[in-house]
Amino acid sequence: MRILLVEDEEDLGRSLKQVLVAEKYIVDWFTDGLQAWLYLEDRSLDYTVAIVDWLLPELSGLDLCRKLRQQHNPLPVLMLTALGEPENRVAGLDAGADDYLVKPFVMDELLARLRALQRRSPQFQPLNLTLGNLTLDVANNTLIQRNTAPPYQEIPLTPKELQLLMYLMQNPDRIIPGSKLRQQLWDVHEDPVSNVVAAQMRLLRRKLAQYDCPCPIETIPGAGYRFNSLLLSHE
Ligand code: CA
Repeated sequence: MRILLVEDEEDLGRSLKQVLVAEKYIVDWFTDGLQAWLYLEDRSLDYTVAIVDWLLPELSGLDLCRKLRQQHNPLPVLMLTALGEPENRVAGLDAGADDYLVKPFVMDELLARLRALQRRSPQFQPLNLTLGNLTLDVANNTLIQRNTAPPYQEIPLTPKELQLLMYLMQNPDRIIPGSKLRQQLWDVHEDPVSNVVAAQMRLLRRKLAQYDCPCPIETIPGAGYRFNSLLLSHE
């Protein structure tokens, strides 16, 4: 799940990103509205939600929101602002924001509103994803494998292992290029080494092997990776 964060206050932006990353979101953080807008226009990354501050350099959060709606972009927007007067709330909602949070706020409230917006997002992802005998329990960072002895086992996953499996399980039986995985699973300001996807894939395979769980992910030389649902047990 990927979030666009636009906040020009460095301290707040940094702590928001930290909290969101700890909640397993992939976060692209921009400090000015125009940069964020150009990025949104240029790249069709699948954001689940945008968190946008009202007062921003170059392009305000309000204008960013209007531009999105003019283009009929349905991305849910949570607007942050120090401007808590009723007329400000109305202006924010009129511009197309879906929700509104007045600073200062507590992180738990932001996370709760985020979860509510996420459920309305076109990119909403269910918290459990099942293919064959494998279930990804996103809330608990766990892959559940059934039809084993004992009847099921739980395999704990790191956040990146979870994100990688989630993306592949949402796109089963399709060949996904490594470059696409890299773009989807690492934020724009991270500069991972070029073989980061292959390295992460090795870690995931090693993890599954530790638990004697057959790995359904195939490497297609020169093309990418495929989560092959035919390799799963469907009993
Ligand atoms: Ca601001």
